[in-house]
Amino acid sequence: MSGFEGSYLGANDRISAQAVMECKICWTPYDPAEGDATRQIDPGTPFAALPDDWSCPGCEAPKAQFLVNHDPGSEAVQEAARVAERTAALVADFTEIWHAKMRDVPIVNKLLQVEAVGFRLHEGRPLGVLVSPWFMNLVLLAGEGEDWSGLVPGAKEVIGFASGEYEFIHNVREMVGGYKACALFSPMGEFHSQAQAVEVARAVMAALFDAANRAGTDRAADIRTTREAELAPPPDLSGMHVAPSRRAVITGGMG
Ligand code: FE
Repeated sequence: MSGFEGSYLGANDRISAQAVMECKICWTPYDPAEGDATRQIDPGTPFAALPDDWSCPGCEAPKAQFLVNHDPGSEAVQEAARVAERTAALVADFTEIWHAKMRDVPIVNKLLQVEAVGFRLHEGRPLGVLVSPWFMNLVLLAGEGEDWSGLVPGAKEVIGFASGEYEFIHNVREMVGGYKACALFSPMGEFHSQAQAVEVARAVMAALFDAANRAGTDRAADIRTTREAELAPPPDLSGMHVAPSRRAVITGGMG
C-alpha cells in the first residue's frame, strides 16, 4: 500500500478525489461518493474540495483531524507525484540555462519562461512538452529504474505514437540525466504569451496521441521548410491539419 496511507495532515495533493477519509477521533467516515447531507455537501465532492470550515459530522473535529481510510486513486496520485518530481528537475535545469546562457541571446522570446506542460507516463516514461523562451520540444525522460546517462548526445531515434513516428535526439544533462527531445518550434518569436505557448503545448500532446492524425504522409518531410512557409500568420489554435509533415500535424501547422 501507499506510504502515506493514514497520514493526511492537510496534504490535499497526496490524496486522490476518490479517497475515503475518517475522523481519527470518532472514526466517522467521509466518503466522497456520498458527500455530507448534514452540511449540504453533494455526493461526488472530493475531501480536498470540502470547505475549510467543514468539520466532522460526528464530533466537529476540523478537517485536518481526518486520516485516509482507503484511497482507490492513490496509485495515480503517486504516479503524478513521481512525474512532477522529474519534470521539476527538467524545468530547474533549463531555467538555469536560461539565466546563465540564453537571457541575452537575440533570438529568445522574453515573454516566455521555462515550463513543463502535460507531462504524463507514456509506456512508463515521463513524456510531455518543454516550453522555453527559445524552443518548444517534446521531451521523453527515462522510466523508473532506467539509466539513460549513457545516451550519446546528438544520436537520433525514431519513436512511434498513435499519430505517427517522430524523430527524437538524445541528450544528457547533469540535473536531468539522459533525455530524448523532438523539436517542435524554435525559435519562439511567434508566440505572444506564455499562456498561448502552453495552450499550443497542450494541443500538441492531444494531437500526438490522436490516431486520426496518422495520415499517409512522410515523417521525413522537411519540417523547417514547412514551418518557415507558415511563419507569417500568428498561431491559430483552430487551424489544425495544415501541413503535410508529421510534426506540423501535431503542432497544428504553426510556427
Ligand atoms: Fe469525528
